[in-house]
Amino acid sequence: MEFNLRRVAEYIRGADTEELLDRVTVYREGMEPAALDLMEGELDRRGITREEIAAHDARHRAAAIILPDGTAMRCNFCSRPAVVRALRWHRVFGLVPVFPTRFAYCAFHADQKRVKWNDPNADANPSSDEGS
Ligand SMILES: [Zn+2]
Repeated sequence: MEFNLRRVAEYIRGADTEELLDRVTVYREGMEPAALDLMEGELDRRGITREEIAAHDARHRAAAIILPDGTAMRCNFCSRPAVVRALRWHRVFGLVPVFPTRFAYCAFHADQKRVKWNDPNADANPSSDEGS
């Protein structure tokens, strides 16, 4: 597929700052160098400093699942970096469970779908009601 710089530039101008930050940090290895230049230029235009980009990188790498190629694993439900994987029943048409599949969840979707993960930003462990 041809790399269409004009379409990429259009996309970048309309993208969320959070998404651009993900792309220039944890997804950096998988990005076209020309697209990275555009994204860094756009972040600069929005007043995001190098320090803020570095802080975003550190915060996400601490929790993200990093693949052998150095990029972060993606959530199966959005494009954010995944923080946990869990076995769930794959459902045909979202209804009929057929086989267990390992899904990857970002922090948002892990919380939404009640998947447990180690949130480095969370407060001290709440008392667990399992076991004993
Ligand atoms: Zn997600």
